[in-house]
Amino acid sequence: MKGDPADCVSVQLVLADWPEERLRARLDEVLQLWDVEDLRAVIEVRWNPRLRTTVGRAFLDDMILELNLRLLARHPEQVEHVLIHEAAHLVVRRLFGPKVPPHGQAWKALMQKAGESTKATHNLDTTGLANSKARHRRRRRLWFRW
Ligand SMILES: [Zn+2]
Repeated sequence: MKGDPADCVSVQLVLADWPEERLRARLDEVLQLWDVEDLRAVIEVRWNPRLRTTVGRAFLDDMILELNLRLLARHPEQVEHVLIHEAAHLVVRRLFGPKVPPHGQAWKALMQKAGESTKATHNLDTTGLANSKARHRRRRRLWFRW
């Protein structure tokens, strides 16, 4: 892992605190809360060390959610919130199909049920993580970023 040594330490800490098994366990809990336990076998969660300013994303077709390892290492208190934010996208997609707006009523209702904020953007510190070339809009239809 190149870059700021402080970031490197933070990455080790967040991985120790939130190994993928714990992400999995928290995800399963929230799916149970939302009464969609059958999706536990379908949804995958993983850390992604290559994401830049996107804090998390959900691959709607593949039912995979990814969390930005380097960004959340700086903001470990946000891990759970981002996990639930992205999980809610997958659940909305599965329950209501592709026509429902990403941060619409169905998504908000799930977030509220989980006791999470329905704010859909983040203002975390992305210094040093941003790409000079914006590679954003590619594949936009397939997943949500925020
Ligand atoms: Zn979102």
